[in-house]
Amino acid sequence: QWQSVPLAPPDSIFQLTAAYKEDTFNKKINLGVGAYRDDDNKPWILPVVKEATRILLNDETLDHEYLPITGLPEFTTAAAKLILGPSSPALAEGRVASVQTISGTGANHLGALFLSRFYQWTGEKKVWLSNPTWANHHAIFKNVGIEPVEYPYYDPKTIGLDFNGFVNALKTAPDRSVFLLHGCAHNPTGVDPTAEQWTTIAEIMLAKKHYAFLDCAYQGFASGDLDKDAWAVRFFVEKGVALLVCQSFAKNAGLYGERVGALHLVSATEEASARVKSQLSVLQRSEISNPPSHGARIVSLILNDPAMFEGWKRDIETMAGRIIEMRKELFRLLTEELHTPGNWDHIVNQIGMFSFTGINPSQSKALTREAHVYLTVNGRISMAGLNTHNVQYFAESLDKVVRQ
Ligand code: PMP
Repeated sequence: QWQSVPLAPPDSIFQLTAAYKEDTFNKKINLGVGAYRDDDNKPWILPVVKEATRILLNDETLDHEYLPITGLPEFTTAAAKLILGPSSPALAEGRVASVQTISGTGANHLGALFLSRFYQWTGEKKVWLSNPTWANHHAIFKNVGIEPVEYPYYDPKTIGLDFNGFVNALKTAPDRSVFLLHGCAHNPTGVDPTAEQWTTIAEIMLAKKHYAFLDCAYQGFASGDLDKDAWAVRFFVEKGVALLVCQSFAKNAGLYGERVGALHLVSATEEASARVKSQLSVLQRSEISNPPSHGARIVSLILNDPAMFEGWKRDIETMAGRIIEMRKELFRLLTEELHTPGNWDHIVNQIGMFSFTGINPSQSKALTREAHVYLTVNGRISMAGLNTHNVQYFAESLDKVVRQ
């Protein structure tokens, strides 16, 4: 049995973490990890999450019964308001179908599955993904029979956005194409369009009747401000671009392992939305039957209690603020202290947890081999892996490989 099953390669990020763990060098740094770490390189349980967990533990009315197929209603309603805005016209008009999912990955999967079944495809089923994108996007769409194709996004020459290439792809793709866009804090590059560029993108998408598959895994985590990070999503809804939104509470609530997320699909009418929701429910039933309750209850408490919501905003500011400080400090060390060759503006211009340093694969490998700094070979670093104790060592190591 199974003699012909080929051995799959290990996941590169998990491989990186394993190599880091085995390394005995005392100054080793792991910059591969996509999870927040505090200034002592420790995972951080948000104080507001601790408080919510305590409340749940003492709530005698709770049990372990199944949630509804589409999730905890208090959670999905509040989550939709959080991303779409409290005064969203789409919400007021009852045009949003929201379903609780297995974090952002599950939202991407359910959204992709729904499109695969119900989108009015004109030709082959294709999705346009940014080059590069979160590697899982490719696998998620392939799993449901949608072929990923790439649009230009990152320009290695400027270590910024290839806006002309992006716009050209939007204009030349067949009408009604599906484009996956990162709502904020693009993974892996940390490069986001400006408000002006988003406006142009929205205009072209409207004119071409393209569909926006918005993946938003970092709301609040990018700038420290939940509303600011939702700007592009809300703008697209307001403009009337056809879209869905994938939402994750892994990063902004530090609930990685609890798998709390939601899919929000905006329809043209309330009536269409009800039909969409009925079909999402049927799909969800065959995939997971019922979503998990614990994490959704935590987030629901936080979103629905004004005092806890304020506490959460403070916790988000703590995380985003620390990351922004690390960007500034790394930039200062490279430019003012070490006078490292090259332009490093992108370190402070990029946003979110990840940064594309602009170093090439051989320099990335040299960093790992010679300095015990673990990062993906594309030169992406997780800012969350830097702290006041190791940023100097990292800057010096980066300086060395750049000069080699
Ligand atoms: N989309 C993007 C772009 C991501 O970076 C991530 C997290 N790495 C996710 C979705 C989903 O993560 P999760 O399933 O943990 O919410």
